[in-house]
Amino acid sequence: MGVMERKNLMVGNWKMNTNHLEAIQMIQKLHYRLDPQDFDRVDVAVAPPFTSLRSGQTVIQADHMLIALAAQNVHWAESGAYTGEVSATMLAKLNVSLVIVGHSERRAQFAETNEVVNNKAKAVIAAGMTPIVCVGETLAQREAGQAEQVVEDHVRGSLKGLSADEVASAVVAYEPVWAIGTGQTASPDDAGSMAEHVRSVVRSGWSDAADHTRVLYGGSVNAGNIAALMAKRDIDGGLVGGASLDPDGFAAVVRYWI
Ligand code: PEP
Repeated sequence: MGVMERKNLMVGNWKMNTNHLEAIQMIQKLHYRLDPQDFDRVDVAVAPPFTSLRSGQTVIQADHMLIALAAQNVHWAESGAYTGEVSATMLAKLNVSLVIVGHSERRAQFAETNEVVNNKAKAVIAAGMTPIVCVGETLAQREAGQAEQVVEDHVRGSLKGLSADEVASAVVAYEPVWAIGTGQTASPDDAGSMAEHVRSVVRSGWSDAADHTRVLYGGSVNAGNIAALMAKRDIDGGLVGGASLDPDGFAAVVRYWI
């Protein structure tokens, strides 16, 4: 690992929205709203539903776009009797380069544990892609003073067994559950200090790899609040849900300095 350098990363998580035709249009619109120089400063990715990944790949390749393709989920096994699931190698074949694992909606609605998230992260890395590991406390946990501990457990449990190089190239998204889809963003100070906490937990397990791991903030990010979040030393980008469904709004998040 060389000199500490973390490129900013903005990821649009479309969740269960858009069919493949809408996805093509949205990716094209986003592309037209960004300048090539923007990509020198920020890596930009969109995470449409599985059914839109192939169309996304095609339009991105055809127009030589610099937008990266991300998936919202993956199964940890290579192949087999897992009806309804999608493997990491299937995603990699579609030029997917990033995969969100352990999103709080999956932890809450699909009972994903740190162990499951860890297995998924390992499968993503084995297929040559980058995991975006989501961590974050619920409102009840925050009110009970457990936020730091929950985030520490999420980080340690989800990254368990990864090498320093693997952790260095991984992405961790701090997403307080109470801020997701609620319009209630964490204050820049709270988000920044939790991002710092995430990095210190990574440092305690993987030493200097922590200088390279990109830490994103997610939770009601929009064009109006992103600049103050990005001003925090340990926040390297955003995982953006609702605001990423509007190409104008997401482009404005990507160009947060304007
Ligand atoms: C998310 O989906 O990860 C997210 C943070 O959603 P929103 O921006 O809508 O809060």
